[in-house]
Amino acid sequence: MRPINLIVIHCSASPNTDRLYRGSPGTCGFLNPAQVIDSWHVERGFHRADEWRARQNPNLAAIGYHYLIGRDGTTFTGRHVDEIPAQAAGFNQKAIGICLVGLDQFEPAQFETLAHLVVSEIARITGRNGPGDRNNPLSRAGALRLADERGIHICGHRDLPKVRKTCPGFEVSTWLANGMEVPNETPT
Ligand SMILES: [Zn+2]
Repeated sequence: MRPINLIVIHCSASPNTDRLYRGSPGTCGFLNPAQVIDSWHVERGFHRADEWRARQNPNLAAIGYHYLIGRDGTTFTGRHVDEIPAQAAGFNQKAIGICLVGLDQFEPAQFETLAHLVVSEIARITGRNGPGDRNNPLSRAGALRLADERGIHICGHRDLPKVRKTCPGFEVSTWLANGMEVPNETPT
């Protein structure tokens, strides 16, 4: 298993009103949000190795993130969790990248999914979700404590050194301090 010490939260920097589907379901050329972002990352020259594509999401040639959260809170997988992402230069080796669809206003369902993903990733990374723990699921507060103890840092893209971006468009540290509850509003 790839060692992880960083979970980076991103946004797709697309209009808040764009659900990031293209075309009509069931027709040729229909794209879901993961496929749309994949096409952007192809254009940016990102590339997934064939062996990783064979293991997960072979139809995604480039996507840099591990998870994508659609406007309705649906989770899409991108790269395999053991695959090094392309999401934050200099910080990819031991990082997990999660991207929310939108710019700076996110739906409550997206925050719920994000909290769930962060907790389950902390459980996975720390081995906390072994068979013996089935009856003792990790709480949000417990997960954040565990992350702290194990030196796993959770931040927004813009919180990394030398990053001049607004991504992910909300203050991750405030969201964490509030126990990963859905914010009442999401000021930029
Ligand atoms: Zn970002």
